[in-house]
Amino acid sequence: AIQVSNLSKRFGRTQALRDVSLSIGKGEMVALIGASGSGKSTLIRHLAGLEMGDGAASRIELFGRVAQSGGRLGPQAKELRGRVSVIFQQFNLVGRMSVLTNVLLGHLGKISRFRGTFALFNRTEKAAASAALERVGIAKTARQRASTLSGGQQQRAAIARTLVQRAEILIADEPIASLDPASARRVMDVLADVNARDGITVIVSLHQVEFARQYCPRTVAMRDGAVIWDGPSSALTNAFLGELYGASAGELV
Ligand code: ATP
Ligand code: MG
Repeated sequence: AIQVSNLSKRFGRTQALRDVSLSIGKGEMVALIGASGSGKSTLIRHLAGLEMGDGAASRIELFGRVAQSGGRLGPQAKELRGRVSVIFQQFNLVGRMSVLTNVLLGHLGKISRFRGTFALFNRTEKAAASAALERVGIAKTARQRASTLSGGQQQRAAIARTLVQRAEILIADEPIASLDPASARRVMDVLADVNARDGITVIVSLHQVEFARQYCPRTVAMRDGAVIWDGPSSALTNAFLGELYGASAGELV
């Protein structure tokens, strides 16, 4: 589903991405780990089409089509963006609108312009949004303002919107970073569920390596803008993790 080749990105004096090459197949669930500043969010922003790589060699293909190459968008970049959903740590929802309306906005995923409110959606669309809220376990919050949801509920509402959007790739940037363990687990359960049942390709950046081990068959580790390890999460050793985070392994597990 995703093919990144020789992706590099510099911000001023910071080399945020160094020649990143990565291939992720349809239906995979992949953890992205690395210390703060290692380039996880920058890579995610490129995959989301929010950032353009440097140089002639930087290239991203999604679903076999060019999203960007050599500093230019591919001809189908806009359409490809509609097939990808990105969830950030915060600010995924419009706080003053209801949870259900936020999820309904997923129907606009392939339309660039923000178009409206609850009344503009038809019954089928509303039923799909309610079903999605049910799927992620927060149906009873449908009429609440989104700003009243807990952090974990907000993440699950954003995942419901991804379902309504019918996105084929879901990229979540530290969706559980500020959550307590029980809420984090519920969010990870929902990510695993949409991966398993809907076949959505999931990439999730995490600091909690134990969640990577438990939920993601594959982990990609970054340091200093480069991918330094890519393999089965079960093969991650404490010694490697200690080195990755510059801490003693005991602190991590
Ligand atoms: P964290 O775990 O803290 O979220 P990260 O792995 O997501 O870290 P990035 O946000 O990708 O790291 O940042 C990688 C490097 O690029 C950092 O040194 C950061 O300061 C720099 N950087 C990222 N975006 C920009 C920007 N828009 N302008 C300047 N520097 C940037
Ligand atoms: Mg980040």
